[in-house]
Order: sequence, then structure tokens, then C-alpha cells
Amino acid sequence: MTATLTFLGAAGGTVTGSKHLLEDGASRLLLDCGLFQGLKPLRLRNWAPPPVDPKTLQAVVLSHAHIDHSGYLPRLCRDGFAGPVYCTGGTLDLLRIMLPDAAHLQEEEAAFANRHRTSKHDPALPLYTVADADRVLARARRVAFGERFTPAPGVEARFTPSGHILGAGLVTCVIGGRRLVFSGDLGRYDVPIMVDPDAVAEADVLLVESTYGNRVHSPDDPTERLAAAVRRAVDQKGWLLIPAFAVGRSQEILHDLRALETKGTIPRLPVYLDSPMGIQATAIYASHTEEHDAALTALEADGIRPFAPRHLTLARTVDDSKRLNDAAGPGIIVAGSGMATGGRILHHLKRLLPDPRTTVLFVGYQAAGTRGRVLKDGATEMKMLGAVVPVRAQIMVSDAYSAHADREEILRWLGGFTRPPGMTYVVHGEPDAASSLRDAITSRLGWPAAVAEDGQRVSL
Ligand SMILES: [Zn+2]
Repeated sequence: MTATLTFLGAAGGTVTGSKHLLEDGASRLLLDCGLFQGLKPLRLRNWAPPPVDPKTLQAVVLSHAHIDHSGYLPRLCRDGFAGPVYCTGGTLDLLRIMLPDAAHLQEEEAAFANRHRTSKHDPALPLYTVADADRVLARARRVAFGERFTPAPGVEARFTPSGHILGAGLVTCVIGGRRLVFSGDLGRYDVPIMVDPDAVAEADVLLVESTYGNRVHSPDDPTERLAAAVRRAVDQKGWLLIPAFAVGRSQEILHDLRALETKGTIPRLPVYLDSPMGIQATAIYASHTEEHDAALTALEADGIRPFAPRHLTLARTVDDSKRLNDAAGPGIIVAGSGMATGGRILHHLKRLLPDPRTTVLFVGYQAAGTRGRVLKDGATEMKMLGAVVPVRAQIMVSDAYSAHADREEILRWLGGFTRPPGMTYVVHGEPDAASSLRDAITSRLGWPAAVAEDGQRVSL
């Protein structure tokens, strides 16, 4: 039987739920095992019977730790998957904090539904539990970048750096003499902390992500807005609040603050990292020196901790966080969540948004409907934690931070192929982004390309 690939998620105009089934007569494995996130019809897909019998899968190969690529794994294990999960060391260390956290949220959601009787199911059950997440971690197999491994009979695989977040890999699988390359999530060129996406020379079939397939990132230096926000906090003797994702963005912000201090662009203010997951993720980023880019390695050689501004305090406990209520500005608080949908940043926003001396800097994408988006769009008051809070703080935005390659960067990476892929399937993009990238691939590179359809099965 010739090898086939079936797109089970992050296809047909969807970004989340990344899952691709690779099989031939002898082997059967999943590339990625992501959770569907976002609008309800998508989230309901996590509750549908698994699209493939988990007991028949021999392995899962994971491109990186983000929940939209890994967060269905606990459910897969609960439903009978008993094989190994292959990933890089960085990915595994991040999974150790991210999967139990995702499971904890599922358990809380079910408990909330039971308390408030908001579910038609009685009792409402979590999609999976922390024990299910632990089961995944027990199945994980750590593989170094560049190391060849055999996830299933007759399949040889390898990760190379994609530059997206710590541990993120491009996946190459050779099955039945055919070479499949999966971009996972593609990072950017010449950005701090992360190495550039690794060049790939050839593939018979290529899967390429298209999150920003129709957009180009702002060419601005993101640290300029960051420095401006810090200077305002200094001038106003107020607080700068930076809502940031715990994994990736928090480390970039800490790194950039340190760099701006070293250059003398900003004074050394007290900086508080008020996020238990952010604190753990920062330790993981710091410990994986094998993934640090040349600039980070040079800093470390000079004895500088690259993720530590001079006056950094880690607020681990709730009491640590509450103690910030009594501290006087100017100072900087970095806390989750990145879109202000939850987490410790909410308490600080509730307390400090009414104060005109406060500055809030958004450093990531703010999805429609989130508090972050409402603030970014200029709300003058907002409901949070049971109160109506007037917004007198200055709201600032730095749009130039992103962990995803934009359209030009994706095309630059594709330009590294020395032999055009026999076929390129565009995945992991909203409909306009995916089709726009497909058009660019066919017109600029002259390669055959198609947007992967949801559920579509193709031959390799
Ligand atoms: Zn990702």
C-alpha cells in the first residue's frame, strides 16, 4: 500500500487542531495532536469520536508544544493510544508545564458547569484530566535536533529547528522511499532568542503553515514601542503592565528589557514576572542553551543572564502577587494571559486601569472578543472581576512581535528548496491566508500547490 496522508485538523481554513495521519500498510502515525480552539463549533470537534482509532496508532510525532499542536494528546491516551510520543527536549520540558495546565483548565471548566448547571450533561465531565496529561508525559520520547529516529516500522524521521518557540521543529519523514516535510509552525529570521528556521533542500510532499500567509509583519523594531512605554511609566511614576503569553513572549520581553537597560535606552526599573507558568517557562528557556542563538550565547559567555533585567522579581505565589498592590511605581509587571482573558494580569488591570499614570502595552495578537482587543480598540470602561472599571490608563500596542513567519518569510524559507516539492499542501491558516499563500507559491515559485481540505486524504 502506498503511503497516504490525511488532514484531520488545521486544514480547510482552520488554524487550530493540527493533526495529520501518515500511514501505509505497515505503519500508522500522527504528525501533531492538537486541540481545536476558538469558536464553539471548533471546540465541539474535540468531543467528537476520535477521527482515527487511537489504539491503532503506533506513534505521535510532535512539531512543538503549543496546545493547538499538542493539546489533544491527553484525550488520545485516555481513549487508548499506547505508543510513544516523539518530540525534542525543549518541547518535552514545555509539555510538562503546558499539558497539566490545559488539563487543569478542562477540570475547572467542568466544575464550573456543574456548579452553575450550564451544561446539558449531568455531571459535566472534563475533556481530560491532569492524570491523563501525566499519561502523555510518561509516553514522551526525547529526540535531539538532527537525530534520526524510527517512529513506526519503515518510517525514518528527524527534527530540525523551525525557530518558532523553544523546541519547535520542522519534521522530515521518509516512508516508502517518499520524503514528507512538515513545517510545523515556522518562525522568523533575525529575531532575538530564536535561531532562524532551518533550510530544507527537498521534499516529495511539503506541508507548510500559513498563519500569516496573506500578511507582512510591521518592519518596526518592536523594542522602540517597549522603550517608549517604559519611558512613559518613568515620567508618570506609574506602572507599566505588559500582558504576555507565558511561553515565548514573556521571555522575549524580559530579554528586550535587559537589552534596552544594557544599551542605556531605559533606566533599570523594578520588573516583576507575575506568572507561575511564565517563571517556569523562563527557567526552561534559560536551561536549553543548545537552542540559544549566537547573540544569547555571547551574552551568556559574558556572564549575563539574558532573560533577567537587573531588578527582576519572580512573583511565584498569590501572596507575592498581592504584595505588588502596595508597591509604588514606577515599575513593570509582566503577567498572563496575553489577551487579558484570565490570569493574574486581570487583578492588576482592575486596580490600575483607572489611574492615568498607568501604561498598558499589548505585545501580541488580540483576538476579537477578548478584553485585550476591547482595550486596544479604545474602550473607556470595561467589566472585569465583577466591577465596571473606568479606563484612564494609556493603552499602547506593539504589533511587531510575532512568533510566526509572515508571507515573505515563508516564501524566503520555501526559496531554500533546491528541488521543488512534487506537491505542496498549505495548512494552518484561515481561508484567505491559506489561499493567498497557495497563489503566491504557484505564481512566484511555479510549484504545484493546494490548500489542504479538512478530512482530505492524499497519496504521497
Ligand atoms: Zn505554535
